[in-house]
Amino acid sequence: MSDCLFCKIRDGELPTEIVWQDDQALAFRDLHPQAPTHILVIPRQHITSLAAAKKPDAALLGHLQFSVAEVARLSGVAESGYRVVCNSGTQGGQTVLHLHLHVLGGRAMNWPPG
Ligand code: AMP
Ligand code: ZN
Repeated sequence: MSDCLFCKIRDGELPTEIVWQDDQALAFRDLHPQAPTHILVIPRQHITSLAAAKKPDAALLGHLQFSVAEVARLSGVAESGYRVVCNSGTQGGQTVLHLHLHVLGGRAMNWPPG
């Protein structure tokens, strides 16, 4: 999608520190980190949100979760623990309309989330 921020990051049109990638997904640091470790994992394929995912996307969604675990291991937060957040839609707090998983770690997380 030509006007999508995360498609632009995927295509190298915006400067970003890519911390991990494979043929289906990539991970980069959030511009406004909410924790010492705050990394976004996105599918290379443009899917607007979790709500917009279709049944054929199921394997990719599983791959994204596995990618999160990989990124967490590489970032050194796997042992101490981390939180995975997927905001979907307006009331879910989604601001960038390209599916992404937030990986937050390096500090204790609060519950319930805001
Ligand atoms: P969400 O609110 O769940 O849609 O999350 C979007 C996230 O993208 C926010 O945490 C933003 O800080 C982050 N973000 C926005 N623009 C950029 C960018 N150019 N590079 C990295 N992260 C970004
Ligand atoms: Zn996109």
